[in-house]
Amino acid sequence: MTTLTIKGKLLFWNGLILILTLVALESVMYFSTKKILYEAVYNKLRQELKELSQIIEPYQGVLTSPDHTEWKEAEHVEFGEHAIYLQIFAGNGEIIKVSRNLEELDIRFSFHIPEQKEILFHIEKTAKGDFLSGNFPVYDRGRLAGVITAAYALTDLQTYLASMRWQFYLLSPICILLALAGIWVISKFSLRPLTHITSTAKEIMESGDLTQSLPAARADREVTELVETLNQLFSRLNKSMTQISNFAADASHELRTPLTIARGHLEVALSRPRSTGDYQQTLKVIREEILKMTNIINNLLLTARFDSENFNLDMQILHLDTLLEEYLPTAKSLCEDKQIRLCSQIDHGVQIVGNREMIVHLLNNLVENAVKYNHIDGAVTIRATQSERGVLLEVEDTGIGVEPEELPRIFDRFYRVDKTRVRQFGGSGLGLSIVKWIVEKHSAQIEVESRPGKGSLFRIVFQKIEYEENTF
Ligand code: ADP
Repeated sequence: MTTLTIKGKLLFWNGLILILTLVALESVMYFSTKKILYEAVYNKLRQELKELSQIIEPYQGVLTSPDHTEWKEAEHVEFGEHAIYLQIFAGNGEIIKVSRNLEELDIRFSFHIPEQKEILFHIEKTAKGDFLSGNFPVYDRGRLAGVITAAYALTDLQTYLASMRWQFYLLSPICILLALAGIWVISKFSLRPLTHITSTAKEIMESGDLTQSLPAARADREVTELVETLNQLFSRLNKSMTQISNFAADASHELRTPLTIARGHLEVALSRPRSTGDYQQTLKVIREEILKMTNIINNLLLTARFDSENFNLDMQILHLDTLLEEYLPTAKSLCEDKQIRLCSQIDHGVQIVGNREMIVHLLNNLVENAVKYNHIDGAVTIRATQSERGVLLEVEDTGIGVEPEELPRIFDRFYRVDKTRVRQFGGSGLGLSIVKWIVEKHSAQIEVESRPGKGSLFRIVFQKIEYEENTF
């Protein structure tokens, strides 16, 4: 089944609604006009019959037809829209008297006896057209003395209603056609920018150049919004594509270095027979490089997980003091290799809303860096304190520090301050980007204070926990 275009749908539904509305509206107008007009005739005839019944008296069982002035009134003499035609029957159906205008028309109405003592209306079809006739029975001592008939010519009324019908028949299709033509023109002009957008978007898609954008057309607000949204989408896609290709390039570069080192040592070891000590040394180097690669791959996997849209953290209230007390032994073992002193200052009862696994990960990255970029015999201090701004989690070291101009970039993925010098420390340049992501997911802020040659302080400011009323 072919799907209708927007224009087709607009025309179809508008046409249908218009036809139904017009039919309903015209029917109501026609039938209510008809009812009002006929009601006026009924009333007129009722009134006439009432007057006649007062002047026409039965005499000894027979209706008399006095030469009353009523018969000379214009409405019973002339024709036209005010004319009322009268005819008096005797009880046996014999015509006793007719009005002048009926006489001149040369027609007679048929004899109808109403069943009750009420007016009986019916349509009288004659050679001179249709008449609405009202028949009123007159009784004399229980016996039917005669019937008075008053009639009104329906020709004018019928002509008027017929012309009304014809006007509807003729005007309705014209109105519908005009309205549909209007809708067609409006939809054609309104949808024209969409056709343009589709073809330009197709061109962009086929060329694969996502740096292009759709031209800002002078069109309706909806179309302008669509163009803006599509351009935002293109720029986001472009950013993501660049990020992906940069990420892949950086990741392969990071993995290539330990692989090259391991391969070099292997080739040297295999170039000629070596002592057991030499082989052991080579294997140690290879193990070291494999550990670095494992670390890089783990960080890469974590980063990829973070990038997926539906990565949600399970947040809960964390007792930071307990968590840190439990973490201190790990930090201590990290410090031991470099004979680094570990100090801590932990306020009792500090709490944050967070994800335990991620907070441990964050701590580990900061402490690893504080140890990695520290001097032998240096110090690392971990603090968790309650302040006016919220809970402060700080990791401070007495290491090499970071130059002020490098500070804004150290949180970028794969960024290292001095690539050749840092190589000796290991690391992939992913640690702080992961820290930043975790901080953002906790709606917290990260600050760095660093003095080259003196040391660095990484501070995370967690929001105060807002306890709802009635919680306690
Ligand atoms: P890496 O795995 O290389 O440590 P990070 O993302 O953790 O990567 O850090 C990025 C860079 O920031 C590091 O290469 C280093 O130059 C610098 N850096 C991070 N922490 C410290 C620190 N405590 N002291 C000095 N420099 C640091």
